[in-house]
Amino acid sequence: MNINTHSNFYDKDQKYVWHHLKPYKKNQNTMIVKSAQNAWITDIEENKYLDGMSGLWCVNVGYGREELAEAAKSQMNTLPYYPLSSSHLPAIKLSEKLNDWLKGHYKIFFSNSGSEANETAFKIARQYHHQNSKPGRYKFISRYRSYHGNTFAALSATGQSQRKYMYEPLAPGFIHVEAPDEYRKPLEYTFEEWSIICAEKLEATIRYERPETVAGFIMEPIITGGGVLIPHPSYVKKVQEICQRYGILLIIDEVICGFGRTGKKFGYQHFDIQPDIVSMAKGITSGYLPLAATAVKEEIYQAFATEKEDAHFRHVNTFGGNPAACEVALRNLEIMEEENLPERSNELGNKLRSKLSFLEEHQNVGDIRHQGLLFGIEIVADKETKIPASNEVVASIIANCKSAGLIVGKNGDTVKDFNNIITLAPPLSISDKDLEAIVEKISKGFNTEL
Ligand code: PLP
Repeated sequence: MNINTHSNFYDKDQKYVWHHLKPYKKNQNTMIVKSAQNAWITDIEENKYLDGMSGLWCVNVGYGREELAEAAKSQMNTLPYYPLSSSHLPAIKLSEKLNDWLKGHYKIFFSNSGSEANETAFKIARQYHHQNSKPGRYKFISRYRSYHGNTFAALSATGQSQRKYMYEPLAPGFIHVEAPDEYRKPLEYTFEEWSIICAEKLEATIRYERPETVAGFIMEPIITGGGVLIPHPSYVKKVQEICQRYGILLIIDEVICGFGRTGKKFGYQHFDIQPDIVSMAKGITSGYLPLAATAVKEEIYQAFATEKEDAHFRHVNTFGGNPAACEVALRNLEIMEEENLPERSNELGNKLRSKLSFLEEHQNVGDIRHQGLLFGIEIVADKETKIPASNEVVASIIANCKSAGLIVGKNGDTVKDFNNIITLAPPLSISDKDLEAIVEKISKGFNTEL
């Protein structure tokens, strides 16, 4: 492709395509990606980058898996579409497989995106309480710094004001509590003590709001886009106890943490809990086709398992559970099993963490945290005061990483000048050699000797 053709595409891109999340910059070309293989993407200029973010935290099995393309093709030739008001074999097989992965008995409702999976969870929770003669339970509690999606209820549950304030007023009935942050906890407490205090704050909030008005509590096992906040196990356990004590459904958002990202099949499996509802998307197909699911514990589903008039879930999703997407998901999960990718994520995560130790000396690196291949590197202006680094400092590290051939992410807290956590979430199938390349490129990105 010659340079004139390229400039043509850049011009057309600027003219027609509205990019997600991207701040406008006059006459600035956006990278146009044309192909990808394993952990690498290639743009139309033939530049190659190691994709340290698996797209948008989703290409868990890596790019270029022909089996997934074959699964989609073969299913499209057999049955490209049928709504799930009836059934089809790919949805049945995938639901059974998800039950294995969830280690429980769950009914699976399919949709297309993480936002929809959470919307579905909220509606199921409200109707569940209605059908259990508790129609007053309509509120949802979630955590500051979490992200749960772009639709109105999912955004209402989101705890990041920068993503919300332009679209307010959002849905009523969504309340936020603080999530424990080990790096920024008050110094006088151990992390476990602080975690228990945060769980007690959740309980206090439930009481202030009146438990009989609260339908559910939604959390990611590890806050991802809000800066990779790994909880103490006592926190998660206590949260489940509190939810159970007050009759509140525990909804676990596994949209990023699921499918091996954190070193287990699902993120909640690091903790000794069993959620009432699990929402999932992204890694379910490794991003090859859109698919999401809301898994609902059989006991909760029982409120809908009645022939009483109007007791069914009045929710339809045209594309949810598309047969080709389900087939791709099924094959994707099989690949993860065959290649032990959740375990691999755990091993490689530990390996990468120890190889990144050299970064601890960097003047702007306040904290490096990870669970499996989910990493957050917190960038500060001053290690003593932990004041977040400016946007410019963070942006220059990200740009240096890109110049070195590595794509990293940027995430953080709720206010504009606090997007200071660089994230890494490479494909779980990444080779040892490419893992080494990440380390080398990070060292260039941070201008630090290995
Ligand atoms: N939940 C979490 C934790 C997410 O990170 C995201 C998206 O990044 C969503 C939900 C929404 O998913 P989607 O963008 O597929 O709607």
